Amino acid sequence: MDGPFASHVSEPSAAPPPATVSEAPRPTSPESASEWVAKARAFCEERVRPNLRTWDREDLIPDDFFRAFGDAGFLGLTIPKAYGGQGLSTLEFARTLEELAAGSGAAATMMAVDLSVAAMPILQWGTEDQRQTFLPKIARGTWIGAFGLTEPSVGSDSQHLATRYRRAATPAGGWVLDGSKMFITNAASSEVVLVFATSDPALEAKGISCLLVRKGTPGFSVAQRLDKMGIRGSETMELVFENCHVPEDALLGKEGQGFKIAMTALEGGRIGIAACSLGIARAALEETLRCLPRPAEDWQRSAVARMFVDVEASRALVEKAARLRDQGSDFAGAASAAKLFASQAAFRIASRGLDVVGRSSFDREGACQLEQLFRDSRVLTIVEGTTEIQELILGRRLLGR
Ligand SMILES: Cc1cc2nc3c(=O)[nH]c(=O)nc-3n(C[C@H](O)[C@H](O)[C@H](O)COP(=O)(O)OP(=O)(O)OC[C@H]3O[C@@H](n4cnc5c(N)ncnc54)[C@H](O)[C@@H]3O)c2cc1C
Repeated sequence: MDGPFASHVSEPSAAPPPATVSEAPRPTSPESASEWVAKARAFCEERVRPNLRTWDREDLIPDDFFRAFGDAGFLGLTIPKAYGGQGLSTLEFARTLEELAAGSGAAATMMAVDLSVAAMPILQWGTEDQRQTFLPKIARGTWIGAFGLTEPSVGSDSQHLATRYRRAATPAGGWVLDGSKMFITNAASSEVVLVFATSDPALEAKGISCLLVRKGTPGFSVAQRLDKMGIRGSETMELVFENCHVPEDALLGKEGQGFKIAMTALEGGRIGIAACSLGIARAALEETLRCLPRPAEDWQRSAVARMFVDVEASRALVEKAARLRDQGSDFAGAASAAKLFASQAAFRIASRGLDVVGRSSFDREGACQLEQLFRDSRVLTIVEGTTEIQELILGRRLLGR
């Protein structure tokens, strides 16, 4: 990154050793994190920055962007090499995602959902056949994945799903789905959706299973596209299932494991959303520094100092959670803390940036892009568990139930 904060925001510690030492390649990684970060930065310069305003205005990121994203290897970052991915650690993934989100919150969120809560659960819970079917194609970006938990009347309280599944009464077996899912990222582009449904609402979490539903399955349709305030260009849509018959091998994990699959996916996903928040936060700080009228006044110096500390603190939390996951330690609390803090920090920074820069930052067609960053940052306190849900998770860990 260029600019006065380059060394602080790009390196893991205040007095970093040379990049070649601090960014040593991991056994699972073909390239060091700094190389992936550099690739992400170059990709954003070339493919994202020139299109950012158009994607936001038209609420559309074209398919050819995702093909290029996949060709560059970004859609397979955490998928093991054995399944065609890059096999990066969570830490390397988080650093690369930060860079991509600093370029486009919308593209980074679509990728975070595709990898963290669609591909990773297939890797963790899938049969070898399911892994071989889906992961190499997701890694190349030929197929995109989606995660279907939220419903028109169910959000945080995801034990009480209304979407139902039952055994198919046909010789070939399989499952039949009825219901709908709302606010689903990647909906129309996705080849596979992880759909969470219940066999009996009275069973609550124990009645929930996860079915892999393919695009084009009869009875599965994509309904309204939502006109969002922020991360415009990322598809967010409603999915409808009407007597939708999927084969026996569409079940991910075992029957009744769906809630656990969803919760473990979200624990991992929160590191990705926290990294996206960090990227947007950093972009908002950089944009504030670029746009604020000079000479700066002391209150503006104080404001950007606080913004800088927020970015650094977010990075420390994101990287702590990522490291814990890479070590195989319990990372769920750290992931919640990172998601809670970084998503709020991103909004705080973008909002304060608007004050610091002043009126020119309100012009949607002006040179300063803080207004878009402000809108983009807002959604991150909601997705993959709201701020209040992260507080509940952390509070229970600290105090017990
Ligand atoms: C842009 C976007 C993309 C999304 N993508 C996906 C996706 O790909 N897949 C998917 O499944 N979902 C997706 N979602 C849905 C998202 O995960 C939900 O919006 C989120 O889980 C919150 O649910 P809700 O909006 O229904 O809010 P609710 O659960 O109705 O909550 C409303 C408010 O009450 C608070 N609240 C709820 N319960 C409690 C409690 N027990 N204690 C204290 N406060 C509480 C919440 O924090 C919130 O402030 C997306 C949402 C958005 C906006």
